[in-house]
Amino acid sequence: MSSNDVHESLELKDIFIAVKTTKKYHRSRLKLLIETFQQYLHLQTYIFTDSEDVALGIQSGVTLINTNCSAAHTRQALCCKMSVEYDKFIESQKKWFCHVDDDNYMVLPSLLRLLSSYHHSQDVYLGRPSLDHPIEAAEKVKNNGMTPVKFWFATGGAGFCISRGLALKMSPWASLGNFITTAEKIRLPDDCTIGYIIEVLLDVHLTHTYLFHSHLENLHTLPIGTVLQQFTVGFFFSKQLGFFLLFYCLIQAQLPGRFKTVHCLLYPDAGRCPEQQNH
Ligand code: UDP
Ligand code: MN
Repeated sequence: MSSNDVHESLELKDIFIAVKTTKKYHRSRLKLLIETFQQYLHLQTYIFTDSEDVALGIQSGVTLINTNCSAAHTRQALCCKMSVEYDKFIESQKKWFCHVDDDNYMVLPSLLRLLSSYHHSQDVYLGRPSLDHPIEAAEKVKNNGMTPVKFWFATGGAGFCISRGLALKMSPWASLGNFITTAEKIRLPDDCTIGYIIEVLLDVHLTHTYLFHSHLENLHTLPIGTVLQQFTVGFFFSKQLGFFLLFYCLIQAQLPGRFKTVHCLLYPDAGRCPEQQNH
């Protein structure tokens, strides 16, 4: 590779995918994720949870990591999980760290194309800002003083990716439990803390990438023809249909009762796909 050429030939196994989950979602969200994502799970997906589930691990063959963090939905518990995700990524030697929640679907071919357009040794932070302006926070400084800080961060619910080069630079504030201390300094959740470390402490900027989507967006407006170009898509759970449909149980107005899933568009032969796929 010449020094001017930032592209690199990247393979899926170079990406460390961290999925955040919790005990109460093992039988619902995680089970669905495993059923659909199976062909990739062994290679590079690590599931970070808060309890042992030997049965699920054996049954599915996926790597479940018990973070021993609390199962509460608190800032401390979520930062504890992110801290373990970070350490495991560093240990893994993989080139990219991508984080998703357990209610999000990664369109892997598209994500691979995106990451291949950079080099993992560059400083790269990709994701969707959750606000249309930088967040304003107060940073705790020495002698109990506070300094205002402003920065962008990628919303964790939509997923984000960080290059290894940048992740290594985050180490003083992120590794071996330091992430939790850093989060306490600004008293913000895990995804904001990532933004704080990168933008404020390292002076690297978030590349605003609007093809990452959380389920909080109105995804019904996403044109079906563009789904496979997205990087992540949050999914809906539809109780009416009696089971969980992956992401985007897209019920098209002109085709009542029909639905498609991103996974089925990508892999029409996968289990759980409706027999007919109308593109
Ligand atoms: N989560 C967690 N502990 C909890 C509740 C949720 O780790 O006690 C995880 C959950 O598995 C998901 C993320 O946090 O990956 C966001 O949770 P959820 O989708 O329930 O909430 P949202 O913020 O999207 O409304
Ligand atoms: Mn969610």
